Amino acid sequence: MSLAALTRLQLGLAALKADHLERRRLLLDGAQGAHVTINGQRVISFCSNDYLGLAADPALVQAAHAALDQCGVGAGAAHLITGHHRFHHDFEAAFAHFVGKPAALLFSTGYMANIGVLTALCDRHSEVFADKLNHASLVDAAKLSGATFTRFRHHDLAQLEGQLERSTAPEKIIVSDLVFSMDGDIAPVDALLDLAERYDAWLYLDDAHGFGVLGDGRGGMTERARASDRVIYLATLGKAAGVSGAAVAAHASAIDWLLQTARPYVYTTASPPLLAACLLESLRQIEAGEVRRAALRGHILQLREGLASLKIGTLMPSDTPIQPQMIGSQADAIQLSHSLLQRGLLVPAIRTPTVPVNMARLRITLSAAHCTDDVAQLIEALHDVV
Ligand SMILES: *Cc1c(COP(=O)(O)O)cnc(C)c1O
Repeated sequence: MSLAALTRLQLGLAALKADHLERRRLLLDGAQGAHVTINGQRVISFCSNDYLGLAADPALVQAAHAALDQCGVGAGAAHLITGHHRFHHDFEAAFAHFVGKPAALLFSTGYMANIGVLTALCDRHSEVFADKLNHASLVDAAKLSGATFTRFRHHDLAQLEGQLERSTAPEKIIVSDLVFSMDGDIAPVDALLDLAERYDAWLYLDDAHGFGVLGDGRGGMTERARASDRVIYLATLGKAAGVSGAAVAAHASAIDWLLQTARPYVYTTASPPLLAACLLESLRQIEAGEVRRAALRGHILQLREGLASLKIGTLMPSDTPIQPQMIGSQADAIQLSHSLLQRGLLVPAIRTPTVPVNMARLRITLSAAHCTDDVAQLIEALHDVV
């Protein structure tokens, strides 16, 4: 007898293909950067989150070589057994100091950190208040935590306040992307903090796309958020920091609680210590990264000016390296992405389920590693293919 469940998977795959929702991986050779080799073709990439061009930076590569010689490859055990290396430890201290929080904890990925934080802070008596456009990992984390999961419309603080007012949960936590990953806009941090204070809630800010990039590199936290015991801050380290992992920074007791109870921290092998050594170097580069950030800001302005008159879709309002051109139709977005690729420009079409149906878009991301000519080529090609 055949396996009926397998047939259901095959029908499901066929349906994805028919709806233009089938995903294919691009095959990268060589290093990540502004110019990459994808499926054997040399292209200019406008789709990585390597916003500062640190992923293949010589100083980080050098740090990796040096650490490799000192400590080998594998961590060998979880942090609470014997896997907690001095490099991890030093990075946590340096990170906490840099972002202006008392303590920090290093997770292997941002996804794991989000699951870890919300499941450690919440139980079924808690209530999570989440912006509807939050990253998938925050949605999964809230669900897994067992807390009541309440979502508010994107940036709708009046709706959030009503929800907080009605809540009888003893523990409340407001959760938001700091820079929204598919839209590029920024959360109103101080207004969220006002509400967190008024209703005695935690405020958890996921700054995956702001850390390294916004302000002086310390990300999108405001001075008030930095000083507040109720703010828990997450930076992922595989994006602008160019490496891998994620760091959570907060009050020392909150961090100690995570260390004791966050299951994706406790029950997993520590990341290779050489990655933490790279992160220490990355932090130095970010601190001294004003030249890179100025280049990035220049590219953002250049792109926005160049695409203002484009005859299809609209460029969404964004001051961050995430510059989505809203197209609408999935088929159109995919067609544009294909045409750009034929010209050697890699720009992904983002569609459902990552974004709502009929809000398909070209998600252009810029990097300090681009040069002015790269951005000019993209602008010209987009006007041409339209
Ligand atoms: C990328 C991302 C994550 C996940 O981080 P990883 O380190 O890639 O697992 C979490 N939150 C947001 C907003 C992200 O964009």
